[in-house]
Amino acid sequence: MSKSEFANSVSEAARFLGIAPPSDLEEVEKHYPVMISSYYLSLIRNQENLRQDPVWRQCMPDRQELEDQVSDFDPLAEEEQMAAPKLIHRYVDRVVLLATGKCATRCRFCFRKRTWANGTELKDITQDELEAVCAYLRKNPAVREVLVSGGDPLMLSARKLKNLLEKISGIPSIEVIRVGSRVPVTFPQLLTAEKAEILAAFPSLWLMTHFNHPNEVTPEAVKACMRVIHKGVPVLNQTVLMAGVNDNAAVLEKLFRKLIASRIKPHYLFHIDPVRGVRHFSTGIDKGLEILREFRPRLSSLAVPTFAIDLPEGGGKVALQPDYEVNGKYPSVTDKHLIGYEERPES
Ligand SMILES: *Cc1c(COP(=O)(O)O)cnc(C)c1O
Repeated sequence: MSKSEFANSVSEAARFLGIAPPSDLEEVEKHYPVMISSYYLSLIRNQENLRQDPVWRQCMPDRQELEDQVSDFDPLAEEEQMAAPKLIHRYVDRVVLLATGKCATRCRFCFRKRTWANGTELKDITQDELEAVCAYLRKNPAVREVLVSGGDPLMLSARKLKNLLEKISGIPSIEVIRVGSRVPVTFPQLLTAEKAEILAAFPSLWLMTHFNHPNEVTPEAVKACMRVIHKGVPVLNQTVLMAGVNDNAAVLEKLFRKLIASRIKPHYLFHIDPVRGVRHFSTGIDKGLEILREFRPRLSSLAVPTFAIDLPEGGGKVALQPDYEVNGKYPSVTDKHLIGYEERPES
């Protein structure tokens, strides 16, 4: 990767965009550094009002990041739930493995912003840490699924990625591997044919992408996903609902329609986590419920993700459902509807 493929400051990004460098963002970038792939910057379209552009908002700093000094850096208690180095164990049957701290772009809404400051951000998991993780998994056979996260696991070299996946899948109790990556969105060229081959070699592997806006679903991004889909890897997507980015039913409908047309299943729509430095993206729960309600009559269930929040203190994810009563057309279930659905009498 050559240096020119990334902007490492606001002024470098401004140079790339051919604009005067904004002067009010220096303090923000001192707290939360900037790193954006030139590919992702090229997706900024709204030249008249750059700061309203959904891609700008996701990758360029905002003074509001510094306004919140009270929220926790780790409200989901990920550090507390570390069972082994780089391994978060919250549920019975699945764990999250932080494979690397590297990303192809630093997202301003990152819920692991705490790792930006403490020096872990650029490191890959070491061989020793990986051995410790495998030892833990061998001792805990109730864990059947490993979510490989980070950072972004597709930032690992092909050799390291292959080694990590081989080590995990070699554990008899591991039945499923889920790889979470935003590389298809922020730098799709890095999902090379070689890496696609590596992912597809594991028959129980699912890829979870992270598209948030229809402008991100470019021909290059689709091509990257198709490299693995054609080889049989199922691709699901999770989206974060964000104020000023995608908190609008028409925008999300367009996003989800584009995804299902490329065989990518919208899986989760998350409300933003109450993490320090990202609260300005918060929409409130009702916004998400209202959008889902609008979807019911007009959007295929293939395209509709599960809306969820991640409970504080490591409580886990909880799906939220709207009340579908819309002009009596899509009523919620009442006793009247349940006639015929009783438990069958014993014969
Ligand atoms: C999100 C998450 C999972 C996976 O949960 P699913 O609902 O199966 O997607 C597992 N462990 C942790 C710590 C998580 O945050």
